[in-house]
Amino acid sequence: MDILEKAPAKINLCLDTPFRHRDGSPEWRMVMTSIDLADYVHIETSSSLTGISVETDTGFLPSDHRNLAYKAAKELRCLFDVSEGVHISIKKNIPVAAGLGGGSSDAAAVLRGLNQIWHLKLSLRELAKIGLKIDSDVPFCVYSKTALVEGKGELITPLEELPPFWLVVAKPRESVSTPSILKRISYEKIEHPNVDNVVAGIKQGNLTEICKWMGNALEPITVKEIPEINKIKQKMYDFGVQAAQMSGSGPTVFGVCAKYSRAQHVYNSLKGFCNEVYIVHPCSLEKSFEHR
Ligand code: ATP
Repeated sequence: MDILEKAPAKINLCLDTPFRHRDGSPEWRMVMTSIDLADYVHIETSSSLTGISVETDTGFLPSDHRNLAYKAAKELRCLFDVSEGVHISIKKNIPVAAGLGGGSSDAAAVLRGLNQIWHLKLSLRELAKIGLKIDSDVPFCVYSKTALVEGKGELITPLEELPPFWLVVAKPRESVSTPSILKRISYEKIEHPNVDNVVAGIKQGNLTEICKWMGNALEPITVKEIPEINKIKQKMYDFGVQAAQMSGSGPTVFGVCAKYSRAQHVYNSLKGFCNEVYIVHPCSLEKSFEHR
């Protein structure tokens, strides 16, 4: 049997970390949403296949046990003692190591897809719990809809639908490693954005309030390594975005525009400066899978 799953990228409208757990992992308080920039994950299972194999259309991603999609298949296969083999083919559209959660979304797509194929009947909550073993962003990606994310990434509270807006997403040339940024968090110095006010803005459907309170506690750390982030933000503000911010541990920056015409203006102005620029809008994953 086979299935095609859409794996949307995520952005962090707000990202805070109140403390570090004893095991070294950060406690999160984040508002996340999915965007319509997505990978496509084709999952095929058969008793004639042996083990798990992964292929991607990029030359530089691991296609062995290091691929997060492989890890997701392994986790479910072991947990439910399934003997069928799995072949995963990923069409990558989400920039890699960019703060857009591409690997986590691919892993979440595999969890959702195999849940269907193997009739495991696991709830999204159960899949999210399994997903946490793979990466802290996988639980959110299992839902892929606007949510407050807490704990180590496993506590997902879905929020109201966002008011309509457009996003201009721009990735600087360089990439960053998430673990290296997380290691550098200094909990004495960190500035905490007001996550509750962003949640309140979403509840009111008020884009101005959401933009006013957005923030990312990791941004000052990544900016030290990649100053281009601030240059892109400044250009976005010069061309009229309502708010601009780094996503996740970076370095991708997104700018918020209420109108498509404004987003197009910002996009055109950034195109000569940045190779990877996209106009997208928030999306939520509802009926994403196609049986064949
Ligand atoms: P995060 O902030 O959750 O670590 P990110 O958006 O910054 O994620 P990803 O694109 O998920 O970055 O890539 C992070 C790392 O995961 C890269 O070093 C990449 O080699 C590895 N990786 C493993 N599997 C995948 C995959 N399917 N797609 C993208 N990256 C993957």
